[in-house]
Amino acid sequence: MLKGTKLFSILNAKCPVCHKGELYVHTNPYRLGSILEMHERCSHCNTKYAMEPSFFYGAMYVSYALGVGLGVALFLIAYFLLKFDFLVTFFFISGGILLLLPIIIRLSRNVWLNLFFKFDHKYLKNEQY
Ligand SMILES: [Zn+2]
Repeated sequence: MLKGTKLFSILNAKCPVCHKGELYVHTNPYRLGSILEMHERCSHCNTKYAMEPSFFYGAMYVSYALGVGLGVALFLIAYFLLKFDFLVTFFFISGGILLLLPIIIRLSRNVWLNLFFKFDHKYLKNEQY
């Protein structure tokens, strides 16, 4: 449904150019030993993901933004919705961020990749979604 949009590539961890190839060797982000293990090139369109050495260092900025956003969201839920006191809210936020860290790490890489690559619409032809 979202195929052809950057959101599709970001949420499904697919190649930003063709939306077919997998970005990661293992699709489960909670397999912690191989959380950052990525394919060097797309198996479908041969796009090289890390376009230069240390390319993914920039994903740290995205990760920071996602972490702060998640922290604020968890604060609003814990403090205003669930009416926890400050100490419990603190642990709620810390635990939530820690639990979702593998997802944040991968999402930030996916967002970072999609800032530099554009979907090629020739990959949408002859397909139905
Ligand atoms: Zn591709």
